[in-house]
Amino acid sequence: MSRPQSRNRRKEAFMKEAERMYEQLEEWYDKHPEASFGEIETEARKRRRELMGKVLAELVNGRDVGVQMKGPRCPHCAAEMEFEGYRKWGVHGLEGESELERAYYVCPNCEGETVFPPGSETKVTGRPLE
Ligand SMILES: [Zn+2]
Repeated sequence: MSRPQSRNRRKEAFMKEAERMYEQLEEWYDKHPEASFGEIETEARKRRRELMGKVLAELVNGRDVGVQMKGPRCPHCAAEMEFEGYRKWGVHGLEGESELERAYYVCPNCEGETVFPPGSETKVTGRPLE
């Protein structure tokens, strides 16, 4: 999964995915030389969804996964919360499924108090995958 990385690295990851999609289409067409344009298009659309999901995950997560230098304050006891790890976050988009990753923090005093600080993608919403 994509932790924050430079723009060039994100672009590289995108190019790799696009290349893989194209290669898959070439292979599929080799096996279906009689395919109509509509059939080729149908095949491409399936793969496009997959590609878009991955590309958007790269674009969003490659920038910011919500990690902060200083932990957020617990909404209950105001203690500084501690970084616990990353949780997978699924977004069901128009063009595909993206699997994002969000940093999360827990309160050292209050059991079960968990916070996912918003990052640059404050308006990206999804649901936890695990
Ligand atoms: Zn607390």
